[in-house]
Amino acid sequence: MTYEIFKEFRFEAAHRLVKNYTGKCTNNHGHSWHVRIHLQANSLDEKDMLIDFQEVKVLKQWIDDNLDHATLLWENDPMCAYIRQSEQRIYVTLKNPTSEHIAEIIMQQAIRLFQNNRINVACVEVNETCTTGAKIYQ
Ligand SMILES: [Zn+2]
Repeated sequence: MTYEIFKEFRFEAAHRLVKNYTGKCTNNHGHSWHVRIHLQANSLDEKDMLIDFQEVKVLKQWIDDNLDHATLLWENDPMCAYIRQSEQRIYVTLKNPTSEHIAEIIMQQAIRLFQNNRINVACVEVNETCTTGAKIYQ
């Protein structure tokens, strides 16, 4: 038997895509990002929970501290210098800050926070619009 729970979060952030990309997403623009994390386990804890939903909020805290109201930019985007200079919030990424890569970044944090010998971070879904998003599986 495998149990699975999910938790959803929202955050607001701007991004643009400039690495090997030409198109309208090269323009800085914002999204109300929607995140859904799925955790799996084959057994429950002493409270008969996979994990207390309250404990999953530490991921929301990481998102709020790092991504919320930030500009998400690829490390070689020339806009990084301006954002830093103007002391605005920035989150620098190793790849284009696509939904796929943002899902990857959140997956890495979720693994750091929740993965143990009982709990597996199954997948992270990141939607940048109501109709567009990406999902990453471990
Ligand atoms: Zn976008």
